[in-house]
Amino acid sequence: LPGLHIVATPIGNLGDLSPRAADTLRRAEKILAEDTRVTGKLLAHIGVKVPMQRYDDHSSEAERAHFVSMLADQAIALVSDAGTPLISDPGYKLVQAARAAGHAVHTVPGPSALIAALTLAGLPTDRFLFLGFLPSKAKARADAIAEVSSVRASLVLYESGPRLGDCLAALAAGLGSRDAAVAREITKLHEECITGTLDDLARRYADAPPKGEIVIVVGPPREAEEASDEQLDDALDRALQSLS
Ligand code: SAM
Repeated sequence: LPGLHIVATPIGNLGDLSPRAADTLRRAEKILAEDTRVTGKLLAHIGVKVPMQRYDDHSSEAERAHFVSMLADQAIALVSDAGTPLISDPGYKLVQAARAAGHAVHTVPGPSALIAALTLAGLPTDRFLFLGFLPSKAKARADAIAEVSSVRASLVLYESGPRLGDCLAALAAGLGSRDAAVAREITKLHEECITGTLDDLARRYADAPPKGEIVIVVGPPREAEEASDEQLDDALDRALQSLS
């Protein structure tokens, strides 16, 4: 089918490439890849030979317009290095441009570290907020955490091993000691998911940065603890004012 095909690829275990994903890549006339060497290995594994071109966040408007112009009569697949394209990965501007030009956009859903981590963490999944990567600078990170501190949902974040300890400490400082989980190397040989409070986890990883890829899941704020006398007085004041 002509149009843009968004194809999810494994996040570590090649067995997670779906038959439809393999089929879509095989039938594509061109594959746009974040890193053609990474995707080249995946294609070699499934015996697919299709011309590849780089498409990433540095691709220019002109390159994007060029790819979009091909969509009318060609099937073009977009993949990222791992997981679902557009999720902390390039692609959203391409989909936007393809839609604006009236081309078909298809998706082949599959692995994403964010969803996989939620299934491992044992924390509420009914409402969650995906934050992607937080800023690496301390002040910007603290601001980003403060912004979401009252959201009644689990939080999901991507982080790197060397920054994990600092990030957990900043989360504990900004959110209080909520329940959390650190999921690492999901679907790979050394997959693990460590749970504890944010304080526990911050201490555990403070001087021991782990190797590999990491997702942090933080549980929602605990149910409001019993209101303090002060809060009750405030509420009473407000109620009385609204009557007068
Ligand atoms: N598009 C991808 C997806 O759908 O999951 C995410 C791409 S983002 C650039 C890469 C980040 O995802 C990593 O730094 C890590 O936080 C997370 N990640 C990817 N694969 C992972 C895995 N196997 N285990 C844990 N985290 C992973």
